[in-house]
Amino acid sequence: MTAPALSALSALLGDRFSTARPVCAAHAQSETHIRTGLPDAVVFPETSAEVAAILRICAAHRLPVIGWGAGTSLEGHALPLHGGVSVDFARMNRVLSVSPEDMLVRVQPGITREDLNRELRATGLFFPVDPGANASLGGMAATRASGTTAVRYGTMRDAVLGLEVALADGRLIRTGTAAPKSSAGYDLTALFVGSEGTLGLITELTLRLHGQPEAVSAAVCAFASMAAAVDCVIETIQSGLPMARIEFLDPAAVAACNAHAQQNLPLAPHLLVEFHGSPAGVAEQAARFGEIAESHDCTGFRWAEKPEERSALWKMRHAAYPACLASRPGATAIVTDVCVPISKLAEAVEETRADIAESGIPGPILGHVGDGNFHAILLIDAESPAEAATAKALASRMAERALRLGGTVSGEHGIGMGKLAYMQAEHGDAWTVMGTLKQALDPRNILNPGKLVPPHDAG
Ligand SMILES: Cc1cc2nc3c(=O)[nH]c(=O)nc-3n(C[C@H](O)[C@H](O)[C@H](O)COP(=O)(O)OP(=O)(O)OC[C@H]3O[C@@H](n4cnc5c(N)ncnc54)[C@H](O)[C@@H]3O)c2cc1C
Repeated sequence: MTAPALSALSALLGDRFSTARPVCAAHAQSETHIRTGLPDAVVFPETSAEVAAILRICAAHRLPVIGWGAGTSLEGHALPLHGGVSVDFARMNRVLSVSPEDMLVRVQPGITREDLNRELRATGLFFPVDPGANASLGGMAATRASGTTAVRYGTMRDAVLGLEVALADGRLIRTGTAAPKSSAGYDLTALFVGSEGTLGLITELTLRLHGQPEAVSAAVCAFASMAAAVDCVIETIQSGLPMARIEFLDPAAVAACNAHAQQNLPLAPHLLVEFHGSPAGVAEQAARFGEIAESHDCTGFRWAEKPEERSALWKMRHAAYPACLASRPGATAIVTDVCVPISKLAEAVEETRADIAESGIPGPILGHVGDGNFHAILLIDAESPAEAATAKALASRMAERALRLGGTVSGEHGIGMGKLAYMQAEHGDAWTVMGTLKQALDPRNILNPGKLVPPHDAG
């Protein structure tokens, strides 16, 4: 089945089809401990019609098709579990149109969020979803990504207004319109956002934009205890302050960032915050936050008002993952990602901290705590099965804890292969329904098989 499919793809795409080992190996690598074999081939389409044709060929020969954006996903999402064809969207990276009056942009899926914001700079608009990594918009939609700014601007669920999708049988469909809302039928846009390439390949996105804020102000402050920092977050959110970002770093994460970004923050739990709005609005929000933080005994409040100070602050935060990795030379990471209701945040973080301390594995904790989302970066010796087992058990307990507290096993990274084991516990029969939808749209199970949904026999 594979050889005829590969010759048909080669005939379709010429030098944009590759079976070269280094190219295939580059599409079987991710940031985490998860490993698979290589894809049989990698293709680089340039148009939606080519993506549809690739799917028709693969469907006819029952060859797996795995979308590839920037390859930054953390749960093995884009890895080829059963071989097949990796569809790399790097050449579909154009802005198709900008509508400043409607605050919308139409893009191809391979454009990265940093490139999109560079192209938007002159318009006075920006795209706010920020997962730290310079991910592609197609990959971000496919994982329903979010990040530091979700507390203010929402996640990819809120940002995507419409899609063009190539289905498993090669049909191209459009979901959504340019209208700000609709009650016309099933919300297929929402179905494809977060479907991790298992229901179709996204070939175009219509995205909501926001006005660049007139004034921005950021600050960093330390707390005597993790509980005090988290209580400050809870009170801030419950008071309705429109925070643009509110990020938590535990002392281990602070130590790693200090070493990596040449900072000298005190080794204490920290919050990093940002405010967006008019100059008066920002000043008022900042003063109110200052009062709340003070009531939780914060110390070392430091403002970063100049753009270069803010950029250094967020650069440090965005580099927290490599900083944590570098804090244990040679280590590999098991990255966890749970999200709980804000009222349960203190309990979730405190129990997790105690659990990690007892395990003996280094595990800095950090997170977008404004929306109840936090991560532990469990640093293990890649050659030690015992450490891997300990870290996996810790990660499982974090997931179970999140479910017990009414939360979810993934706030933003998604399921891929790494979190399949928790889907039944989180969703019950609703997970079976996800499988039914998958079977209806992809009866031959060619789209990213082995990810997200329950296993099914291809028809
Ligand atoms: C240091 C670091 C920090 C991170 N922080 C965050 C964070 O704060 N928040 C967050 O949400 N994530 C975070 N991530 C995870 C990652 O950046 C996101 O999952 C991102 O959305 C993946 O985008 P990508 O372009 O790299 O997609 P890929 O990894 O290439 O693919 C992800 C999934 O999408 C599918 N896919 C890709 N393109 C398409 C397409 N066009 N159509 C259909 N399916 C497609 C793939 O098959 C795969 O299932 C972080 C990762 C790293 C390495």
